[in-house]
Amino acid sequence: MRRTLIAGNWKMHGSLSSNAQLLAALSSGVDEAVAADVLVCVPFPYLAQAQLALSGSKVVLGAQDISERAQGAFTGDVSGAMLQDFECRYVLVGHSERRCLHGETDVQVAAKAAAALALGIVPVVCVGETLAQREAGQAAQVVATQLAAVLKHVGVAAFSRLVVAYEPVWAIGTGRTASAAQAQEMHSGLRAQVAALDADVAAGLRIVYGGSVKPENAFELFAMPDIDGGLVGGASLVAEDFLTICRAVN
Ligand code: PEP
Repeated sequence: MRRTLIAGNWKMHGSLSSNAQLLAALSSGVDEAVAADVLVCVPFPYLAQAQLALSGSKVVLGAQDISERAQGAFTGDVSGAMLQDFECRYVLVGHSERRCLHGETDVQVAAKAAAALALGIVPVVCVGETLAQREAGQAAQVVATQLAAVLKHVGVAAFSRLVVAYEPVWAIGTGRTASAAQAQEMHSGLRAQVAALDADVAAGLRIVYGGSVKPENAFELFAMPDIDGGLVGGASLVAEDFLTICRAVN
């Protein structure tokens, strides 16, 4: 039985004052009635604030990126050990905005996943195709290649300690969501890819969907058999919307 994960990705949004309100609302709003693990991935400068505000709550803390290296002369990068100092339990790796805007490659994403795993931090490995790739009929092949790089680097057994996020690039921040059936088809393909190597690991693997998840579409998406929750960008910045999505878990 896979426990649903609802992860908020704040991206580069927030301020000390707006975060305080949002974190307080999540801290009190995520209660026993929410049948999911709830995670927020905040910008690095706000990790300390979020750690304090979420302490004692059911909401867990994560980061949006991790260096593949342990330490050294890597200006601007943040190591896994630094994330651990703030009790980050999860970290996003390979978000399409990192792949597209920062040139992260499949190999680098795999190395980042390995760096997180080595420290017991759960990587949320993001994969997804662009609109051009979907229209060219390449969606399944693109995400399979992205996933294969991580499988090759960390091995299938490590997939019992990570989460996969299927995020079609054309649905991120656009208001255009994959239909529940489209997302289910992709999730089922990703699970089959892992099952070909280890059926038990595949059966326990959480694959969450990201791409304009909103209160209006969350219930239908989460009802699909291979969709184990959501990675939520824009709607995670509005407490009421994010809490409604968390409560849409069946
Ligand atoms: C995301 O940031 O991963 C995301 C899916 O964003 P949005 O929900 O805004 O599409």
